[in-house]
Amino acid sequence: MSNKIEISACIVCGSTSLNDELTVTDWLVSNEVFYLKNCNSCGFRFTSNPPSAMQAGPYYETEEYVEHSDSSAGIINTVYHQARKWMLRYKLGLIKKHAKGNRLIDIGSGSGYFIHFMKQNGLAVAGVEISDKAVALCNEKFGITAYSPTQFLNNEIQDEYDIATMWHVFEHVYSYDEYFAMLKQKLTADGTLIIAMPNHLCLEEKYYRKYWNGYDTPRHLWHFTSETFTQFAKDRGFEVVKEHNLPLDPFYNCLISASYKKSFSFMPATLMLGLLSLLNSIFFFKKSSSIVYVLKKI
Ligand SMILES: [Zn+2]
Repeated sequence: MSNKIEISACIVCGSTSLNDELTVTDWLVSNEVFYLKNCNSCGFRFTSNPPSAMQAGPYYETEEYVEHSDSSAGIINTVYHQARKWMLRYKLGLIKKHAKGNRLIDIGSGSGYFIHFMKQNGLAVAGVEISDKAVALCNEKFGITAYSPTQFLNNEIQDEYDIATMWHVFEHVYSYDEYFAMLKQKLTADGTLIIAMPNHLCLEEKYYRKYWNGYDTPRHLWHFTSETFTQFAKDRGFEVVKEHNLPLDPFYNCLISASYKKSFSFMPATLMLGLLSLLNSIFFFKKSSSIVYVLKKI
């Protein structure tokens, strides 16, 4: 589909000693092949041959990128939309528990369901979104105009914020240092940064491997774990003060991964694997399907 770049050093520790972990197909859009590598020094895993940032756009062009869709066709979409309502309440609970103040900026705000819900619950909200289509949907549906990443990174937004959120967004970000620097600048001294990402140490990754939805190559560049993200954030002036899971993510991951694997996708068994993964994460938190990192400035 386009020219690839080659990432030849670990973005966590800088080591160039890497080993091949897995070859993963882009099941969603291009059917192209991508490579996951592990850092031999710190264990960080990443997609080593993604498209360049300028050429990543076409890899997002699919109706099945459900966050941007209100379609209720298909059981996965139905489950997804019910789950979204539950997740919005869960996320609000996390924010109320950890954050002070009510000015929130959501990076990767998509079509705006999250910021709209937070606004309904008394927060002053802003969004940052790369997709023009999603910005238009958000404006049309909720009357909220999201900023562009360029406006955010060029410091064209005057306000400061008490809370910044990135829900399954940071793993997509090429200019991770610029984002961290600007988040540090935009958050108040006591501000809270919340970043949620998939975690490949989860149980269902062991079963699905190259079909695991959490890899989502080449859209997901970085495959953090609690250990690697804690170090990464610390080097950029943030401390992880608390971690949570997202209890519906193992089910969502299993349903999507099973649709890629095709050979065996009997739904009750798929959901059972999701349940096993969730139960496993109760005993071994670091093996949660996704981790919500709550961070404060150091
Ligand atoms: Zn490393």
